[in-house]
Amino acid sequence: MGYSGDEFDVIVVGAGVMGSSTAYQLAKRGQRTLLLEQFDFLHHRGSSHGESRTIRATYPEDYYFSLVTESYRLWEQAQAEIGFRVYFKTQHLDMGPADAKSLLSVIASCRKNAVPHQVLNRRQVTERFSGRIDIPDDWIGVSCELGGVIKPTKAVSMFQTLALKNGAFLRDNIEVINIAKDGDRGVTVTASNGEKFRGKKCVVTAGAWMRKLVKTVSGIELPIQPLETNVCYWRIKEGHEGKYAIGSDFPTFASYGKPYIYGTPSLEYPGLIKAAVHGGYQCDPDKRPWGPGFVPDTLKQWIEQRFKGSVDSSRPAATQLCVYSMTPDEDFVIDFLGGEFGKHVVIGGGFSGHGFKMSPAVGKVLADLVLTGEAKGVELKHFRIERFQENPRGNIKDYEDQVGLLLKSTL
Ligand SMILES: Cc1cc2nc3c(=O)[nH]c(=O)nc-3n(C[C@H](O)[C@H](O)[C@H](O)COP(=O)(O)OP(=O)(O)OC[C@H]3O[C@@H](n4cnc5c(N)ncnc54)[C@H](O)[C@@H]3O)c2cc1C
Repeated sequence: MGYSGDEFDVIVVGAGVMGSSTAYQLAKRGQRTLLLEQFDFLHHRGSSHGESRTIRATYPEDYYFSLVTESYRLWEQAQAEIGFRVYFKTQHLDMGPADAKSLLSVIASCRKNAVPHQVLNRRQVTERFSGRIDIPDDWIGVSCELGGVIKPTKAVSMFQTLALKNGAFLRDNIEVINIAKDGDRGVTVTASNGEKFRGKKCVVTAGAWMRKLVKTVSGIELPIQPLETNVCYWRIKEGHEGKYAIGSDFPTFASYGKPYIYGTPSLEYPGLIKAAVHGGYQCDPDKRPWGPGFVPDTLKQWIEQRFKGSVDSSRPAATQLCVYSMTPDEDFVIDFLGGEFGKHVVIGGGFSGHGFKMSPAVGKVLADLVLTGEAKGVELKHFRIERFQENPRGNIKDYEDQVGLLLKSTL
């Protein structure tokens, strides 16, 4: 099955959630689309595999709000088209010290964007969640109806299936090693097996490989750092399992203390609840350490105290490794590659451990940018490459100096 020599309207490089969602958007608009993936489809070596991702409307940064709300709508739409569910509604609870700057920004952003929410003290959190979760006296909780869990591998498979149904061509085990401008005709994409693909335009969504590929193609070094991260699942003690299960009114949650901890109700592994630290170890995505995943004592203490002894905090019952592609400010990179590529090549990367929920809207933005040169109504200034350009190497250096990387928290 080769398409060498064929010409495509758009070639998408990288079939994680962002590339798959983009291919779906493009194919749906009648574009002759090719989606290329270096490994097997739905592999476990990137960022988009697994069983659960949080979706929530509560963000400290105001500019994510419209991407999240658009995504809620697009998740529903894609589910209706495919005929099965990847999104499961829950409430969401943010919590942390009452003076935590990011948490106060969450509240300000909720107010500004009219996101229905309630600010709760310790007693109210206990009441609201029937004693299943406890916070210290000097913390607050922010409870919001707009939470939920998305099933990542199933969602990527959904976008790939929808792309196919709309006429896209999908190839896996094709590693792209170069993208070159092809005069006025567009771009030529070269794979490591020697195949060449011609496209009028190209979108690069290479996840943790973005820095490498963009450097090879354009010489630009983006400060996107791959981090290997460890997702922990904890055993709920006998008799308490049902109280923490999805559908039991238990929320997805984020804790703005140090470290930043996030989690979801029990869903994928009955009797286990997910709670993990936002952060990880720097890694080369082609030479991953594959563990051992670090489980800090602070996380164990958090489990013991927040769940009031109902969850075994001695050690995780199961763990899963995954990779983040982090930028120094944890904001995405969505932009034209520029230079000789002008607006022919668009990149979408650096999703910094919080992009999954917004993948439907990001796919739409990337499709808009590559087809029309703009994404109407979407403010992209926080996602531009130029924000790194004053001192790109300096940014990477500062970043690399922070081992353990628990920065501004936005899961
Ligand atoms: C443990 C964990 C928990 C997370 N939790 C949340 C959460 O709760 N909520 C949330 O919103 N987000 C969350 N995220 C973040 C979210 O999962 C990521 O932002 C998202 O999956 C990024 O998708 P991507 O398509 O950019 O990257 P990837 O999924 O890594 O996809 C990139 C693809 O490009 C391919 N590729 C790379 N180079 C080439 C090449 N040269 N040729 C061909 N193919 C290539 C790769 O093989 C890969 O398949 C979490 C991430 C992790 C790891």
